Parts: sequence; C-alpha cells; structure tokens
Amino acid sequence: MSLKLYNTLTKQKEEFKPLEANQVRIYSCGPTVYSYAHIGNFRAYIFMDTLRRVLKTNGYELKHVMNITDVGHLESDSDEGEDKMEKAAKKENKDPYEIAAFYTDIFFRDMGRLNIEKPEIIAKATEHIEEMLNFVKILVENGYAYETSKAIYFDISKLDKYPILSNRNLDDQIAGARVDVDPEKRNPYDFAVWIKAPENHIMKWESPWGLSYPGWHLECSAMGRKYLGDVFDIHTGGVDHIPTHHENEIAQSKGCTGNIPAKTWMHVEFLQVDGGKMSKSLGNTYTLDQLQERSIEPLAYRLFCYSAHYRTKLNFTFEIANSSQKSLNRLREGYLLHTQSEQKIDENEIKEYRKRFLEAVNDDLNMPLATGIMWEVVRNTKKSKQFAQLLLEFDEILGLDIKNSKEYLEKQVKIELPEEIENLINERKKAREDKNWAESDRIRDILKEKGYQVKDTKDSMTIEKI
Ligand code: AMP
Ligand code: ZN
Repeated sequence: MSLKLYNTLTKQKEEFKPLEANQVRIYSCGPTVYSYAHIGNFRAYIFMDTLRRVLKTNGYELKHVMNITDVGHLESDSDEGEDKMEKAAKKENKDPYEIAAFYTDIFFRDMGRLNIEKPEIIAKATEHIEEMLNFVKILVENGYAYETSKAIYFDISKLDKYPILSNRNLDDQIAGARVDVDPEKRNPYDFAVWIKAPENHIMKWESPWGLSYPGWHLECSAMGRKYLGDVFDIHTGGVDHIPTHHENEIAQSKGCTGNIPAKTWMHVEFLQVDGGKMSKSLGNTYTLDQLQERSIEPLAYRLFCYSAHYRTKLNFTFEIANSSQKSLNRLREGYLLHTQSEQKIDENEIKEYRKRFLEAVNDDLNMPLATGIMWEVVRNTKKSKQFAQLLLEFDEILGLDIKNSKEYLEKQVKIELPEEIENLINERKKAREDKNWAESDRIRDILKEKGYQVKDTKDSMTIEKI
C-alpha cells in the first residue's frame, strides 16, 4: 500500500519513498526549554509521533533526530529581543543550564504521559557548538555569510531563490519593516547565524569572532547535518516555522552543501483557543497538568487531537476536551467488551476494516477518518476477541494504550470519587464476589440515587456521574 505525505515544498501530496533502502531519516524541530510546553506544542509532537508510527507500520526503520533548543532562540524569529533562555534565567534567578534541565525533564515526562515515543537521537544545542561553528566557517568561506559588529549574517542575495518554502513577499516585508536593529546588514532580510555576545550574556563560547553564541536557525541545520547527512527524508515542525525558521535552514544548507536539506517538509497547523492562536507570548496556554486538574487525561487530549487533520486548525475548548475524555472511556469499555466474547468473526470483515484503517493513515495521516473506522469496530454489535485484537493493532498507530483499558478505568474510579461513593462501590464489589446479586443491585440503585451510574463488564466495573 502506498504512503502519501503532503510536502510544503512542492505544495502537494506525494508518494513517499525513502532516499535510502528501508531507512527513513527525519529531523523534527524540538522545544525551546525556557518554560512549560503547552498543549499547542504537544499537538506538534503528537503529529510527529503519529508520523513515526505510520512510517513504522509501513515497515520502515527510523533514524529520527529531535533537537532541544537551550540557547540562541531570541524572542522574535527575526533576530530581535533577548535570548529566551537568558530571559527566563534572569526572571527565575537561576542559571540558564538549570532552567534548561528543569524544563527538559518536564517536557519528556509529558511526552511519556502522551505516549509519544522518544526519537532515536535527542540533540541539545549547547552540546553541538563545535559542529555549529564549523557550519558558520563554511558559510563564510563559501561567501554566504559576513561579519558585522553585532553578528555573522547570512547574505540572502547570494541565493538563486529566496524564499522557496513560503509565499512570503519580501518586498512587502521590507516596505513594512521597522528601522532595522543592525544597520550594517547588507539586506534587511539577512539573518544572524552566529551572534556576538553582549557583556552580560551568560551563554557564550570562544570563536574566531570573539565570545558569541549560535543563532537558532543554524542550530537545526548543523545538528541535522551531523546526524542525518546533507540530505535526509523528512523535516517536521509547526506552520510558524515555514516563513522564517525553515526558510532560513534551507538557505543555510544551500550555502553550506548546495542542497535543500530535506526532501519532504511537513508542518502541523496550530491549536487555537477561542478561535485565536494559543501561544506562550499571548498568555493563553494550558499545560497537561492544567487539563488533568479538570479530569482530562493526557491520552484524552491525544484523542482530541485526532478530531482534526494535522493540516487544519483545531480549536480547544474544555467542553470538547471533556467529551474526548468520555469518548476515551467509551473506547476502553468497548474494547473490554470485545475481549470478553468468544464470537467468531469472518476474517474478511477484519481484513476490510484493517485495509480501510491503513488507507486512511497512509493518506497523509488522515486521523479523523482512521478514528471513525476505529469507532465502527468498537461499536460493532457483534462482540469478539478478534475485534479487540484489531483495536490493539490500530493502537500501534493511535498510541492510546488501549491494552491497559481496565487499569485506566479502575484508576479513574479511585481518583475521582467521594469517600461515601468509594465505600459503596467497595461494598458492592464484595457483594458481587459473594455472588449476592440482590445486595449488588440494591447498592447499584443507591449509587444511582446519589447520581452515579454503574456499568458491569465480565471482570470489571465502570462508574460515571449521571
Ligand atoms: P517552541 O518550544 O516555541 O519552539 O515550539 C515547539 C513546537 O510547538 C514548534 O514545532 C511549534 O511550531 C509548535 N507550536 C507552538 N505553538 C503551537 C500551537 N498553538 N499549536 C501547534 N503547534 C504549536
Ligand atoms: Zn528547528
């Protein structure tokens, strides 16, 4: 079955074929670790993980790099403002390395809660300064970069074409630009690849241009090249990377190696809130912990993300997230019901579901369609272990940890209920163990009066607030 992926570079869906035999080399722009990652950021990593899982299902091996930006990401993508890490360090009165370590740990803890696989290689910017410096030296030698009193800039006018990824109109941009921060720049849209550190800058390294630090765009180019070579298969990021970050990565690689570094460029659309952008700078973000405080599990957020295709905007509301939590529980209950039945299903029916599911995910990761097929299996009126097994197969891509459904449902009962209700449930469990069905029914009715609906499966029980 062929896999089709949308390529921002060619603006079309293309049949995917790896550059080399069976291995797919991927680079994903990772987090800047100056603060908690929010659920918008995690939409990007859920997309990244879905892509990984779909490629693996298609039989490919992965060599996947994700960077951790722990220096050099300025407040604005166009070389303005303070370094985000340094700003956070000053605000929290800590060392920037401490800040980076703290938020990196939390980032990976949250990735785990979302069941996102860790890419094969995690590359921290501060551990690749030598590769970055070499990259800058090559750019200068090749005549693509020049020095000013503030930085080493990439000279856009040396390229045959810029931009090539976005529809960014440079003339409009130049006309609308404010007075440039560095009047020594040759072209207003030249960008810094290496930045000379002001006196009070904490993170800085010796270089032929004095104490300085890398530009954010350069970091990804240098680390991608180190691990994946001059040209690799797929580069991923958010749509906000298209006009500047990725455009500039392409410019740098062309200046260094003469190549566009990746064949396929994939970008995930934004998670919105109240119809507008969710972002740290606007202060309208939520973390996974904040969702959890409202009884929305990370995996329910993962399921919520499947409600829209990755290339369309998705609006977050607590109301919809709550229904995703309910849906996740229904999926778990439905799976458990299937596991309890011995009914035999015609293998052709299973094959047909499997084929449709794979067609959906292979069509540029059409997760809304794929989850629709998953629901058909969950709700099939015939109950069968074969359907349960099929759901586990689907879960290789969905990543919803369906096999542990029973544990999740039981845990929820424990976490959310008042003590009085907990006691009643325990009494009812005991009555059922003793096969005292009259007592079990009596307690079920009391629970109902108190606003809790009990549902029994063969070897577990779920409870829902009415
Ligand atoms: P940052 O840590 O700010 O560099 O962002 C990490 C990733 O999250 C990048 O791939 C961004 O494109 C992505 N991102 C940031 N905000 C959102 C959002 N609201 N929705 C989806 N992706 C986002
Ligand atoms: Zn990047």
